[in-house]
Amino acid sequence: MINPDIETDKIKRYWQDFFDQYDYNDQINNLRSIYPDEKSLYISYNDITGFDETFAQSLMEDPTLYFSIGEEYIRDTIGLYNNRIKRIDIRLTDVPDITGIKYEIRNVRSCNVGTFISISGIIRKNTEVLPRLERAAFKCPACGELTYVNEDYQRLVEPSSCQHCGYNKGKLKLIPEESEFVDTQKLEIQENPDNIDGTSQPQRITVIMEDDIAGKVFPGDRVTIYGILKADQKHIGTIMLTEFNIYLYANNYKKETKDFEDIKINEDDEKQIRELAKDPNIIKRLSKSIAPSIYGLEIIKTALVLQLFGGERKIMKDGTKIRGDIHILMVGDPGTAKSQLLRYMTMISPRSVFAFGKGSSAAGLTAAAVRDDFGEGRWTLEAGALVLADNGFVAIDELDKMDDRDTASMHEAMEQQSVTISKAGIMATLKSRCSILAAANPKFGRYDPLKSITEQIDFPPPLLSRFDIIFKLIDTPNREMDGKLAEHILMTHRLGEIYKGLENNNVDIKIPDEENFIPEIDKDLIRKYVSYAKNHVFPRLSNEAIDILREEYIKTRSSGGDSIPITARQLESTIRLAEAAAKARLSPIVTAEDALLAKSIVDYYLREVSSM
Ligand code: ADP
Ligand code: MG
Repeated sequence: MINPDIETDKIKRYWQDFFDQYDYNDQINNLRSIYPDEKSLYISYNDITGFDETFAQSLMEDPTLYFSIGEEYIRDTIGLYNNRIKRIDIRLTDVPDITGIKYEIRNVRSCNVGTFISISGIIRKNTEVLPRLERAAFKCPACGELTYVNEDYQRLVEPSSCQHCGYNKGKLKLIPEESEFVDTQKLEIQENPDNIDGTSQPQRITVIMEDDIAGKVFPGDRVTIYGILKADQKHIGTIMLTEFNIYLYANNYKKETKDFEDIKINEDDEKQIRELAKDPNIIKRLSKSIAPSIYGLEIIKTALVLQLFGGERKIMKDGTKIRGDIHILMVGDPGTAKSQLLRYMTMISPRSVFAFGKGSSAAGLTAAAVRDDFGEGRWTLEAGALVLADNGFVAIDELDKMDDRDTASMHEAMEQQSVTISKAGIMATLKSRCSILAAANPKFGRYDPLKSITEQIDFPPPLLSRFDIIFKLIDTPNREMDGKLAEHILMTHRLGEIYKGLENNNVDIKIPDEENFIPEIDKDLIRKYVSYAKNHVFPRLSNEAIDILREEYIKTRSSGGDSIPITARQLESTIRLAEAAAKARLSPIVTAEDALLAKSIVDYYLREVSSM
């Protein structure tokens, strides 16, 4: 049997040796003068493993004990001279992403309770920062002395008797002025969409951030959080249940800064990508690789390729920003493969989120401040799809069914690429820098070629104008086209039979030409290609491109359509598409050809959609 005091002394000595050997004493002494502006001692995990592997191991296995002894040692070291020092946290940095420490949210289990783990994800919700009772002072009605209790997160623990006179015949009175409080905040983190296979529901976990790390992260932030996994007993009123909820009590956090670092690209991939980019037909090849089971729609597919790459975000001297992300809307008849395309693009776009116009959560498409169970009465800020997809892509199906509240905040979300919430003392601006591909059904069920687009969809025109391109998909019977489409769909099904291994009883079976159905560039490579381009290529307009864009804009203005006013917005859209074309070729320069390709897409849209 281990004697707890000897154990405590041993751990304390470990910490002392560690601080000596790894030069942490200056930092500890420094805390004395800067407290409470700084309340934490940051220690590199590498130093701890360098000092003693077993010590590091024990710290990971029983962090509550080891940290509390280390923190007590620090308080003792500096507290002698200053009794203001109340809470000091040892916070770890450089915690490696290794098995045994790093977990996917869906793999966190009861056996991890009590240990130190790290998880990564997107912040979906956060509550206000509020004070929590940490060291409660209780006054004895008999002798008047104070009894202190260190409170854990959640329920209040009251002393059963007075420490001084032993009084136990009634309640001791809580004295807030004599108690100590700590800032506390609750978060909900959701798995990174890139780590899950598009089909399953992302898993979530609750995280508690306290003291100096409370209030530092916001919905939409991509973070790695390390901390102690804790369990909290479920209860209905005062009845305690045998089931527990788990949550992560954060020790430290790290915000992801680079845009697409989550997609790993090795040397071979890079070589392959560079090789592909040399082909002058690369944009065509990429667009042919998009949703090969969907017949036709070449121009739409080309636009979708350009959307993947996006234009360049610009920041002016005065701080104003011009978005680089390209927004596309598809309006059209049912059964024209809109939903299929959305699903496919969600699959190949890095950092993508799929959503319905009529969202299932309170946050809707943008974000909201709500008072719900999660916050236990506190206000909670919750991110919707556009915020969760910050620096990524959102597919929104049935955009026409969007809530009015979202319609209002979509303008800001699409153009300024932020969502401002100001409600009940919560004031926050969340980022929504993502490209949007949306599908909508016409108001009357089918697209009426004789009516203008603004009459056919229930959107305020200003919202429509935020889309760089609007495609209409009309389902009119046409013998030749229908024949080809039917053949294509039938062959897709036949291929499905073959892949499934169905026995071939049919003697003269027609074998589909696989080439037409298998993407030439597979979706994993496209994802890598896109993230590589976005991280490495930042194209600039050439003089020739500028000349073309200007002249063409003047021409379009003078021959303008009726229902979509030709404004500077279309010029900006064309610029974005041209930049995207250069990026798709991994070219640092936007050439005349890029400008012409962009122009042809915008022209197609204006001709098709706005001419009536
Ligand atoms: P929407 O969302 O426009 O109503 P869906 O995406 O649900 O349409 O498509 C309906 C079905 O029709 C899907 O199974 C889709 O594959 C098929 N389909 C529609 N158009 C095409 C096409 N051009 N090529 C292949 N299949 C198509
Ligand atoms: Mg649909």
